[in-house]
Amino acid sequence: MNDEQLLRYSRQIMLPDIDVKGQQKLNDATVLIMGLGGLGSVVAYYLAGAGVGHLILNDFDDVDWSNLQRQIIHNEKRIGMNKAVSARETLQALNSDIKTSVVDRKLDEDALLDLASQSDVLADGSDNFQTRRMMNTISLKSGTPLVSGAAIRMEGQISTFNLSTESPCYQCLYGNQLDDEELTCSENGVIAPLVGIIGSMQAMEVVKIITGIGEPLDGRLMLVDAKSMGIRTLNLMQDPACSCHESRGLQSARQ
Ligand SMILES: [Zn+2]
Repeated sequence: MNDEQLLRYSRQIMLPDIDVKGQQKLNDATVLIMGLGGLGSVVAYYLAGAGVGHLILNDFDDVDWSNLQRQIIHNEKRIGMNKAVSARETLQALNSDIKTSVVDRKLDEDALLDLASQSDVLADGSDNFQTRRMMNTISLKSGTPLVSGAAIRMEGQISTFNLSTESPCYQCLYGNQLDDEELTCSENGVIAPLVGIIGSMQAMEVVKIITGIGEPLDGRLMLVDAKSMGIRTLNLMQDPACSCHESRGLQSARQ
């Protein structure tokens, strides 16, 4: 690390839990961020500030006026611009020291798996079950932990899945819930600072996983009610009936 980097990251390096060693781990890490909307904006912003060396930004959507209320990585000049491209401009202005890769199209599972295999952590800021399920699948296949967040109306939730082979996965929690039960921000609304709360927690989880400090939300689901500022944490177990762990079960039975 050069003098400029030591100064830039000094407030983290002075933490005994992080130190130069932890900062170096962050600088060497790659994180795939799915969706540069409300959650992804905050995750990407803080990870860039914290010095995560390589951020892969995936979004096929363009910036719209209705996004600016909460998607703080974009601005008025970026209306109509792809969100991943817009995010890269903001992140590079904040920290030119890090590398950003833009993926401005919808990827199939194989292409996503390839990116996940190059990543240390996956951060899901997407807004639909289909993408969240796909992120869970590639997380399991690549062995890359998944930090999943969601925010709707005035309620949010966050958990870390697939940190170890014993960890519950997204599917353990939701099973085969139907897509038509889906709640979206465009239909239900969301209060602006809530995505900041959940996105910041996701960024914190990513930093903890990369540096190995503290206890991630592995096997725990945190529920945030912004109205009462009530926070509850539920314990999650791996569901033996969850189809995602079948192949793994067979593998361990063979050994
Ligand atoms: Zn599962």
